[in-house]
Amino acid sequence: MKPMGPIPPAFAAQTGPLTIGGQAAGALVAAHGSPLFVYDTALIAAQVERFRAVMPAAIDLHYAIKANPLPALLERVGPLVDGLDVASAGELARAGAVKPGAAISFAGPGKRDAELAAAIETGATINLESAGEARRALAAGERLGIVPRLAVRVNPDLELRGSGMKMGGRASPFGVDAEAAAAVVRAVIAGGADWRGFHIFAGSQALDAGALIETQAATLALAARLAEEAGAPPPLVNLGGGFGVPYFAGDVALDVAAVGAALGQALAARADVLTGSRFAIELGRWLVAEAGVYLTRVVDVKTSRGETFVVVDGGLHHQLAASGNFGTVVRRNYPIAAATRMGATATGEASVVGCLCTPLDRLGDKVALPPVVEGDLIAIFLAGAYGASASPTAFLGHPAPAEIVV
Ligand SMILES: *Cc1c(COP(=O)(O)O)cnc(C)c1O
Repeated sequence: MKPMGPIPPAFAAQTGPLTIGGQAAGALVAAHGSPLFVYDTALIAAQVERFRAVMPAAIDLHYAIKANPLPALLERVGPLVDGLDVASAGELARAGAVKPGAAISFAGPGKRDAELAAAIETGATINLESAGEARRALAAGERLGIVPRLAVRVNPDLELRGSGMKMGGRASPFGVDAEAAAAVVRAVIAGGADWRGFHIFAGSQALDAGALIETQAATLALAARLAEEAGAPPPLVNLGGGFGVPYFAGDVALDVAAVGAALGQALAARADVLTGSRFAIELGRWLVAEAGVYLTRVVDVKTSRGETFVVVDGGLHHQLAASGNFGTVVRRNYPIAAATRMGATATGEASVVGCLCTPLDRLGDKVALPPVVEGDLIAIFLAGAYGASASPTAFLGHPAPAEIVV
């Protein structure tokens, strides 16, 4: 038996058939088919409220839509947050459908001229990733006859790690090295752009409040130092995000109240050059991961040399992350349950494998499950972020999953 991560609080206490947003998983699959991603938008709204309740009022909340860009989800989330962060012209178009351009910022390396132009036309802020991109954005603004909104993304000389902050930083395709950032700010201002400030993203998936607190304080200090060096107070400082969620056994939820309290203190003590600045935190997975459940039907149950395999109609082509092949070094189990029998005592162990003809397609490795038969539904939790849109859906030619919001 191998351990699995904790079932998110909204589902952990359920017994009997799983419900999502008050609707039975079985009925949802009967209506929309299997496999199916279900996103409970009330849970996302609750996360937004949790954030607002503990964070200083000067902090805007942005949603990084690459975590889950489903249009139906964006329609619900857009009005709840202050801004949307995008990373391609495709995401820009989706964000623009639910939010005005002025509330959108566009980060990411390799923005093509057409993408820069699209951002400038919609009034989005471009987070510049290099001096070369600054030149191309200014030129695009001139061609269009529009003053571009430009911020400088900084490759900080610090790094947010799973447990702690690391000073030093490293070479990165993202952002302008801190040492060179002030010069790019000056060039952007001299070029006639509307300079919007700094974007400083130091890392992802942190569960350690202490590490985040340290990183945010260092990020504020860095923004102040760069603003002094550039001789220009930043209208906005995007402090990055990095709030993590517990995926695996032993993970403990982030103490956001502690982060909010410390950030309040750090802001109160901020350098004079930041007095007039607004601040933003951009979050993807923390807002949406726990709201999503991937439901997949059992096609076959077989034993092989003493091991039980539960073969489902989904797989890593929909939910790559649960197979351990999306940004994890060691494969560990996401929380999994028999959706027909929540809370039932596990009677044995089984490996839940997908329908792809590759040994990589293992959604649960030797997990504890109650007896499962053909036709049952398996629920894989934490499917709200980096699920369908971050998986190789064309691999092996199976149909794309349905995705719904409830
Ligand atoms: C991916 C990304 C995010 C979102 O990260 P999460 O871990 O999902 O919160 C935020 N900002 C930037 C710049 C990103 O690239």
